[in-house]
Amino acid sequence: APTGLDLPRTTEAILAADGHLVQSWADLNGLKKPGARTAIVAAKGTMVRDSDGNDLIDGIGGLWCVNVGHGRREIIDAIAQQLSTLDFYSTFYTFTHPAAAALAQKLATLAPGSLNRVHFSNSGSVANDGAVRILHHYYERLGRRTKKLVLSRHGAYHGSTYLSIAMTTPPYSKGWSKAEGIVHHLKKPHYWREGADMTEAEFLDALIEDMRTQIEHLGAENIACFIGEPIMGAGGVIVPPAGYHKRVQELCAHYDIKFVADEVVTAFGRLGHFFASEAVFDTQPDMITVAKGITSGYQPLAATLMTDEIHEVISGPDGVFTHGMTYAGHPAAAAAGLANIALMEAEHIPERVRVTGKLFENTLRSLGDIDIVGEVRGSHFMMGIEFVRDKASKALFPEALNIGMLVARKAQEKGLIARPLGHILILSPPLVLTEVEIARIGSILRDSILEVMRDLPSLNR
Ligand code: PLP
Repeated sequence: APTGLDLPRTTEAILAADGHLVQSWADLNGLKKPGARTAIVAAKGTMVRDSDGNDLIDGIGGLWCVNVGHGRREIIDAIAQQLSTLDFYSTFYTFTHPAAAALAQKLATLAPGSLNRVHFSNSGSVANDGAVRILHHYYERLGRRTKKLVLSRHGAYHGSTYLSIAMTTPPYSKGWSKAEGIVHHLKKPHYWREGADMTEAEFLDALIEDMRTQIEHLGAENIACFIGEPIMGAGGVIVPPAGYHKRVQELCAHYDIKFVADEVVTAFGRLGHFFASEAVFDTQPDMITVAKGITSGYQPLAATLMTDEIHEVISGPDGVFTHGMTYAGHPAAAAAGLANIALMEAEHIPERVRVTGKLFENTLRSLGDIDIVGEVRGSHFMMGIEFVRDKASKALFPEALNIGMLVARKAQEKGLIARPLGHILILSPPLVLTEVEIARIGSILRDSILEVMRDLPSLNR
């Protein structure tokens, strides 16, 4: 019987077909140039293979998501087994199915505090969009109809639906429209760039003061929630000053504003714990959103976790929860999530990350001695390298130089995929990297940066 899997094999054939595919978050014009696109055709463990037969270390873990590594039979078999028993049923109306139910229960046991209720969706963007929708509905039901505004931050990335892009840092929606009038952006908590002439403690005080001022200005009675990534990811891997999230949550509690943690990247082991909110940042969110590592990317799945208290209100009498997506909690995705978590537990992956992730972090930090490396930042398997033209002034290279892309291209030639983001290079590899692979990534990055630096005529030192 036809399988539909008569796939193009050569690079030429793949890219000819790919002319019809619109990539995401890409310079679509730049992609028209020969050699701009990379087709990945196979993957195993921490490695991927491109269509020219090159084996590359997956330094970005798919897209911050292939936490247990590629090709794990346990997950693939669980998906196949689930599909052969129940290919699809929804969690709409009165229906449920065992895989979604069991995964919701499992997440409730892993999540901190009373985050015992789980609404599934298909992407992190939708989980965040849904968090706000659910809170709006919650306040409607409480008769507090003005409580609709969202506090986010400059530098945040919360997705690209109409609402989640509005919660994302404003430069990312340049040239596009977004939900207007709902989101207000607080200061970016990046001490190295924004905290000139202050101690880190003073910088933290200033951030909290900025938040307090914005709340007073907008009126707490008009604000539904604060949303924040524990460590900002796609905005440049920004670790806030120690104690920041706790102070933010205290301020939220003071003003009766819900605290939503976007753990799309930080959950499922990347920082050494299933959830980072409590274990790493000492906070108890009212909601946590997750995606990516929940299935290690083997299936699309996201979730919005909420407290019993929020659930109590939205499940009270006289109302219908008019929110949800057909494929949310898809049996195959839920099975992937269950198998992924079981594998992480059996192999103690979060615990191992506390050791190997620290080694990865320190290996990357050691690149800080290179002239054009301004800051190496992040934690465990979530790292960013910011390049500067001048270390003392932190002055950047001209944007057109695309320094991150230059280093990423060089690294790819040497067998490592890293993700360029303007003048930053991001690394978010699978959590199962070995010590040897970590050392290899360190040396590829050092060689790549040094070679790019040597080739820059303006840096002819
Ligand atoms: N939130 C964070 C912190 C993310 O990093 C991302 C994606 O990178 C999202 C939300 C959006 O998730 P998705 O791309 O699955 O919609």
